[in-house]
Amino acid sequence: MNKHYDIIIVGAGPSGLSTALHLDQLVNAERSSILILEKARHPRPKLCAGGILVDGERIIAKLGLDLCEVPHVDVDRALFNFQGRGLAARFFNKKPIFRTVRRNEFDAWLANKAKERGIKIQEETTVKKVENFDDYVLVRTSKGDFYAKVLVGADGSNSKVRASVAKSKRPHVGRALEVITPVLAISQAEDRASFDFHPISKGISGYLWDFPAKIEGETMRCWGIYDSNIVKRENRVSLRQILAEEMAKSGYNLDDYELKGHPIRWYDVGNQASVPRVILVGDALGVDALLGEGISPALGYGRIAAEEILRAFAKDDFSFRGYSEGLLRTPLGAALWRRTFIARLFYRFKNKFWQGLIWHWFKWLTVLIGMAFVIGWEKKKK
Ligand SMILES: Cc1cc2nc3c(=O)[nH]c(=O)nc-3n(C[C@H](O)[C@H](O)[C@H](O)COP(=O)(O)OP(=O)(O)OC[C@H]3O[C@@H](n4cnc5c(N)ncnc54)[C@H](O)[C@@H]3O)c2cc1C
Repeated sequence: MNKHYDIIIVGAGPSGLSTALHLDQLVNAERSSILILEKARHPRPKLCAGGILVDGERIIAKLGLDLCEVPHVDVDRALFNFQGRGLAARFFNKKPIFRTVRRNEFDAWLANKAKERGIKIQEETTVKKVENFDDYVLVRTSKGDFYAKVLVGADGSNSKVRASVAKSKRPHVGRALEVITPVLAISQAEDRASFDFHPISKGISGYLWDFPAKIEGETMRCWGIYDSNIVKRENRVSLRQILAEEMAKSGYNLDDYELKGHPIRWYDVGNQASVPRVILVGDALGVDALLGEGISPALGYGRIAAEEILRAFAKDDFSFRGYSEGLLRTPLGAALWRRTFIARLFYRFKNKFWQGLIWHWFKWLTVLIGMAFVIGWEKKKK
């Protein structure tokens, strides 16, 4: 078996698959020189509410793919509330505000598209350690050692690649809890998703969500709570308890369901993005601090990483010195920077009076800020 590759990508989630698909698209890459190592086998479970915004859909379309091939729910109305009041958003052009997918299905679909284009994915291979040398990177895995000229760490928030090579260990990590339930309340229309920011008044730098989910053809609800941890809390409030109280208002007993949690690493300009011959993408480097949105950013990272890798091969310079700064000059990098900035500011306003102003009195201004600075960083296909 060949163990020497030009490019090894660790992780076949959205960021790793997008990197491979973009490499393939940009240079019609010598496919035999790219390998993706994935510890699981698709379709594999991934804890995620599966909300894909317009930016992610545009990237997928530019790759010549159609998200609608994946089972999904169109969310036509999104409610943004603070203590039960706020605003209902919908697009005038009748397009969905976002779509929800199940990640086992979406990631498996994307992996199949990569395989159809000739990209090799070696599943059930866990990367244990990575060492970068002057001329190559040594990748130690459960299936033996591999060698690459360039390595991409796309292995999620608990990235082994980052842990092996990055010096900065600053924990810019949020946490999300999630639970899947059947539909109980008539008010839970299939096309409706809601975000409630009242946990901010309890010291949480995040929000509660209630999204529709289609699981094996059945309409279900996906509930969860996100805490970016971006503003230091004085007292520890239980995320579980806040979620349980919210669900109880709609007749659910959280104890009846399986609650799962997972970290979300968010982008900060100080996060170490690369070392010589190794770059990080997606959750391994950091996604959106404000809402914990990571699928579209992960897909967006793929193109930036692919371009950076091709530049490195063209110049025969694998230092990746300019990756971090270059990222900030891209629309995705700038959007992630803005979201971290807004999150640092917004989650400081814990007082109910201020949040009331934001969501009840100045709600249209809030929408305009969201439209201008938060979503829409990926331009439409020309
Ligand atoms: C509860 C929850 C809800 C969320 N909801 C949303 C949402 O609605 N919308 C949204 O946009 N984002 C959401 N996110 C964030 C989103 O899930 C992530 O940001 C996104 O999955 C990041 O993609 P990625 O490819 O970087 O990493 P991942 O999707 O985590 O993929 C990493 C891949 O690497 C593999 N891997 C890991 N370690 C190794 C190893 N050592 N060796 C080999 N392979 C390895 C994994 O098996 C996996 O396939 C949510 C996150 C959580 C926790």
